Amino acid sequence: ETARPAFERVLLKLSGEALMGDMDYGIDPVYIRRLAGEVKAISDIGVEVAMVIGGGNIFRGAGLAEAGMDRVTGDHMGMLATVINCLSMQDALENLGAYCRVMSALPINAVCEDYIRRRAVRHLEKGRIVLFAAGTGNPFFTTDSAASLRAVEVGADVMIKGTKVDGIYDKDPMKFDDAVKYETVSFDEAVQKRLGVMDTTAIVMCRENNLPVKVFNMNNSGDLMRLIMGENIGTTVKA
Ligand code: UDP
Repeated sequence: ETARPAFERVLLKLSGEALMGDMDYGIDPVYIRRLAGEVKAISDIGVEVAMVIGGGNIFRGAGLAEAGMDRVTGDHMGMLATVINCLSMQDALENLGAYCRVMSALPINAVCEDYIRRRAVRHLEKGRIVLFAAGTGNPFFTTDSAASLRAVEVGADVMIKGTKVDGIYDKDPMKFDDAVKYETVSFDEAVQKRLGVMDTTAIVMCRENNLPVKVFNMNNSGDLMRLIMGENIGTTVKA
């Protein structure tokens, strides 16, 4: 008997920075192709995949506000940045022969579909990779919050957060040699100890809806597949 995936439907969240590779702005074409390959691989074994990609490699509302721009306008720019990232990922996936759809929380009909929940679920059931763009569609939120919201809306089994580190540590592993990685953390601990997994809005959304979150290093090729197959990769945040 062949091994089966541990999850049927997942929501994968990548920060915009994940698309930058070694650059300091924008999208690295080589890098996004590799990411797309890893995503297609889990879709190919029958896992239903929804994705949220951040916009931090292009614009963040808070950063623009610091530079003097109106915050809401800055957030609109940040949300549009996520649309750009999703289009880029859609292109990379399609180049590999995957089927996917971008659905935006802000209507931009000429460019992608509007987010309509029942339609998104239908795409997933048909095996299409669905990219949720423009965050929640509202300023003052993050794409982590959008990811937790969409994951709950479409009934994902888990939210998988691909980062630059291989899990959640008690302190910054980039700065401290003796930082210890958690295998599991409770939602409450993540908030109280300010472990910096996600913003509090996103964690509370997951906690209230009992949606587990897995944090792992998206730079480790093959780890996404291993995680999907039930291996103990990264850190799990749960009740
Ligand atoms: N954003 C927003 N509402 C949302 C999601 C995102 O206004 O629901 C804006 C916000 O300005 C944010 C930017 O989009 O800074 C990019 O998203 P985020 O910072 O979460 O991207 P990441 O850090 O994951 O790359």
